[in-house]
Amino acid sequence: GERQPTNINHLADEYLRLAYQGLRAKDKSFNATLRDDFAPDLPLVEAIGPDLGRVLLNLFSNAFYAVRQRQLQGEAGYAPTVAVQTRQRGDQVEIRVRDNGLGIPEAVRQKIFQPFFTTKPSGEGTGLGLSLSYDIVTQGHSGTLTVTSKEGEFTEFLISLPIKQGS
Ligand code: ADP
Ligand code: MG
Repeated sequence: GERQPTNINHLADEYLRLAYQGLRAKDKSFNATLRDDFAPDLPLVEAIGPDLGRVLLNLFSNAFYAVRQRQLQGEAGYAPTVAVQTRQRGDQVEIRVRDNGLGIPEAVRQKIFQPFFTTKPSGEGTGLGLSLSYDIVTQGHSGTLTVTSKEGEFTEFLISLPIKQGS
């Protein structure tokens, strides 16, 4: 695919809803709060839309899976929440995908970008999402993909992409 000037807010909004609806179609009892905090007047980035969309879809799907797992533990008052935020920071556009799911233990965190690494039962995960996402973001878009997590509290993925010159 070709890189095209892309509005990340539109892409993130579209794929957040797609991921949520996809999950709800399979699991009607699942409910989560979606939060979006999109920067107005976000500069465009040169993106291959379908590739970056696949990255976002995987991040959102992972986030929904993590909050679903925590919800199944039956903790009182737990409110599954998946949030997406966009910001300009210097010459970069930042996209944060945050969930209040199970979090990622340190020993697991070191492996999540490796191909075929998964903690999901067979049939539920290939373990390819994050490794492909890492390549798409770094090689395909000259960006970075990093993660912060606290076990039992939250996980946050951060994509940082260079702004299109002259936008
Ligand atoms: P898959 O989703 O097929 O397992 P991924 O490459 O997308 O493969 O993710 C690899 C692993 O990273 C997951 O199996 C899970 O252990 C961990 N992981 C990814 N995202 C999250 C998240 N939001 N919360 C907790 N664990 C996560
Ligand atoms: Mg995945």
